[in-house]
Amino acid sequence: MSQKNRSTQSTGELILVVDDDEHIRRGAALHLESAGYRILQASNGQEALTLFDESKNKPVMVLLDMVMPVLNGYETCRHLRQRVQGLRLPILILTGLNDESTVDLAFQAGATDFASKPINWAVLVQRVRYALRDREMYLELEQKEKRLSHAQRIAKLGYGQINLSTGIIDFSPEIAEMLGMEGRSVMNSQDFFDLLEPSDQALMQQALDDAITGSGQYLFEHHLQLPDQPEKVILQQGEAKQVDGEWLIIGTLQDITERVQAEEMIYFHTYYDPLSDLPNRILFEKQLNEQLRHDELQAVLFVGLDRFKAVNDSLGHTRGDLLLKEMATRFSALQRDAMIVARFAGNIFSIYLPKVGTVEEVDDLAQSLLEIVAIPVVIGELNLGMSASIGIALYPLEVESVERLLLGADTALNLAKQHGGAQYRYFSSELDGLAQERLLMEQELREAIKSEQFELYYQPQIDARSQEIVGVEALIRWNHPSRGVVLPFKFIPLSEETGMIIPIGEWVLNTACQQAKRWVDKGINIRMGVNLSVKQLQLESFPALVASALEASGLPPEQLDLEVTESMAISDLKNTISVLEQIRELGVLTSMDDFGTGYSSLSYLQQLPLCTMKIDRAFIKDIDDEGNNAEIAKTIIDLSRNLGLHVIAEGIETRSQFEQLLMHGCDEIQGFYFSKPLTAAEFEALYEQTQGRLV
Ligand code: C2E
Ligand code: MG
Ligand code: MG
Repeated sequence: MSQKNRSTQSTGELILVVDDDEHIRRGAALHLESAGYRILQASNGQEALTLFDESKNKPVMVLLDMVMPVLNGYETCRHLRQRVQGLRLPILILTGLNDESTVDLAFQAGATDFASKPINWAVLVQRVRYALRDREMYLELEQKEKRLSHAQRIAKLGYGQINLSTGIIDFSPEIAEMLGMEGRSVMNSQDFFDLLEPSDQALMQQALDDAITGSGQYLFEHHLQLPDQPEKVILQQGEAKQVDGEWLIIGTLQDITERVQAEEMIYFHTYYDPLSDLPNRILFEKQLNEQLRHDELQAVLFVGLDRFKAVNDSLGHTRGDLLLKEMATRFSALQRDAMIVARFAGNIFSIYLPKVGTVEEVDDLAQSLLEIVAIPVVIGELNLGMSASIGIALYPLEVESVERLLLGADTALNLAKQHGGAQYRYFSSELDGLAQERLLMEQELREAIKSEQFELYYQPQIDARSQEIVGVEALIRWNHPSRGVVLPFKFIPLSEETGMIIPIGEWVLNTACQQAKRWVDKGINIRMGVNLSVKQLQLESFPALVASALEASGLPPEQLDLEVTESMAISDLKNTISVLEQIRELGVLTSMDDFGTGYSSLSYLQQLPLCTMKIDRAFIKDIDDEGNNAEIAKTIIDLSRNLGLHVIAEGIETRSQFEQLLMHGCDEIQGFYFSKPLTAAEFEALYEQTQGRLV
């Protein structure tokens, strides 16, 4: 055998030659092998079937003699056909009996072609080639069809044809499945119409009519409700054609239920709040924009739950969520003409009243809102009493655009909160002046950070017994280019709201540490107190910022004292505990500032890693009169001592206050009586003058 033959032999297609005549088998082997095929030989039908079954790579074609011992050609052909159907295995009959009945019989048994003996080998090789090429094409087509139908199944797409003259619809298996008619491929068009809702029937009729008379094409969506199945959404597309005077509609049905559901889900996530199922801020603003009209009185109300954050933190978020849900349900139950209720943000709900007759109606709604919020909420074993603050803006009475309407309601809400909550307030243009001022100050604060208009003042803290200066508290001042010195109460709240307290606070921390280190180097060995904002505590990186301020300045950590207030601590107790613990681990001291002005609950105080308690000025003020304050101050001092805390009294203005506190066992004193907050230079001068001892 030549080199070429061997290689084609190993890769060529395998043909099974079945004949009891060895001559024929050899002839076939010779000619087919030299044409590149591989050959398996069998001398009767039985042997052929065994070979076929046992071969790993099955023959792709069979040449089959008709008359053989053991099992003849017809029988063998029938058996082979049970194994492989049609064109996948071409079977070529070799017959010496060249009459029609033999050929017919062979075809009935499943043969695909025949050749008569004596065999012309050159012609036979050609026939084998054609048969195998047909087989190849058949397999390819089969593959394509499979893929197509797979794709259609994935797309849930089926095709069909309606003959409008006969009313007959032919349809593909995919449509049959869609319609719950598995196994069928024909139906009456009336039966299809009957599956549709009357409104969809009308739509479809219209679409068909339009396609015939107009564009020739149609596309519409309809619903399909089959018994015991969830409703489907179907997209129907079609094209009208006239063939031999008959109107045919050829088209597709696609089950787009999942797509529609996905779209609805996306829509919901974009426009609704998943917790309350209410419209969210985006949808609320969209609806406002769509519905706002110049010729009618309309109102927007912002409803904020008072103290929600504290409740949420102490109850846990799951219960906080339940509370919000409950409020959402209550607000939605209030019936007002075309009213829209949305969850605007966090604990703020927004309400739009598109039709307001008189302002009294708005008053009435606001009053109802306050009342329904006040109905106790039962969550598990808890019975919560809540209140709300409400801000209202009226259009076009007070504001002239959607933006101003929202801003106005928000400003009024803040006003209601500032006045203690549990009330509603209207926005008016005077408030607008305030809002403008805030905007201006916000810009100015940004500028102040850049051009270093801030300065720290230092107020001495005196040891009550020795009267030595043991520490200072750093207090920020803003040297405003035109307004002069601005005190913290004027700009700290705004810088907290705008987030600018973060860079400001960082500046304070670094400046105070550097100043304290400079004093240490000059032999002024005192503690440096720095006030913190709740926003700083919420920074995950805050402990790291403290560490780097210490490192950059070289100040020993035990000379830094960070002050937090009660309301800060309670607003996020868990976080405060964790941050203070990290700060304590650095070796830095911690103080509770303004004690007595917040919630005054001991249970949380015990949980906080504190070193010092600072009694608020409010308790010191009347301490030398006959009032209760002396008692309260004493109680706070005792309590702090029991908790193992160091006690500082703030705001001492008179000698008698100082003496009372000394008597009650207070450790340190801070106040105008000894010194006002001073600039760094002033403090240094004072310290040198008094040698650190104020009497
Ligand atoms: P605070 O931490 O309780 O500071 C004490 C405040 O009481 C200071 O007001 C101080 O000037 C004032 N004060 C001290 N002794 C007396 C006194 O004998 N009589 C009276 N009437 N007042 C006295 P200041 O400097 O206006 O600061 C007010 C608040 O601003 C501070 O209260 C603190 O909460 C906050 N603050 C000040 N500086 C900063 C800062 O750098 N960062 C942050 N986050 N807050 C700061
Ligand atoms: Mg303080
Ligand atoms: Mg204080």
